[in-house]
Amino acid sequence: VKVIFGGFKQNGNKKELMESLDKSYEKLFVNNRKWVEDKVQKDPEYFKKLTAGQKPEYLFIGCSDSRVPANEITGTDPGEMFVHRNIANMVVNTDINLLSVLQYSVEVLNVKHVIVCGHYGCGGVKAALEHQPHGLIDKWLRNIQDVYRLHMHELDAITDEEQKHRLMVELNVREQVINLLKTSFIQRNRELYGFPQVHGWVYDIADGYIKDLKIDPDKDFPEYKIYKLV
Ligand code: ZN
Repeated sequence: VKVIFGGFKQNGNKKELMESLDKSYEKLFVNNRKWVEDKVQKDPEYFKKLTAGQKPEYLFIGCSDSRVPANEITGTDPGEMFVHRNIANMVVNTDINLLSVLQYSVEVLNVKHVIVCGHYGCGGVKAALEHQPHGLIDKWLRNIQDVYRLHMHELDAITDEEQKHRLMVELNVREQVINLLKTSFIQRNRELYGFPQVHGWVYDIADGYIKDLKIDPDKDFPEYKIYKLV
């Protein structure tokens, strides 16, 4: 067995590989038991309270990247944040998964804030602009290339690659926030109740801080009218 990924030993010893796989898997249960004990020790009613239901105020749409854990970076507890993650935090209007999460959280849970959170160093954003095939995922990444096309002149004017990447990440978040505003669920509830507010964030994995892009739907989305459904 030759393992070429994941940081496991590559010496071809199958028994060692199996042991290391068992260990990495078992770790999750060890952690889980410790987490349960900690929670119950602080509050014996902790899990009982959670079974009463959820009333999250936020929907977080983030990247699947393992370095962007929604609850940890926002200091929110179980029950506080509804979460959807996909590669490069995209809002794609044919994605039945995202749309289901969005409809449920907006119309049933009545979340007050919908957040699109991108991050610098995003592998999905980088891969989209690489000009090489990655397999099936290219179909998903094409949505990011569409963002590039919309802002091509601004992006091509930047010569520093890192700076260009960071702007691309920000512009991608901005476009996904606009995509949220195009949906009937968001439009109707904003019209009826004045919320959910929509926000665009960029998380910096290098220092842990979240930056609010301060997107103003009226100012940043002048073509809004054509998308109005309600
Ligand atoms: Zn990412």
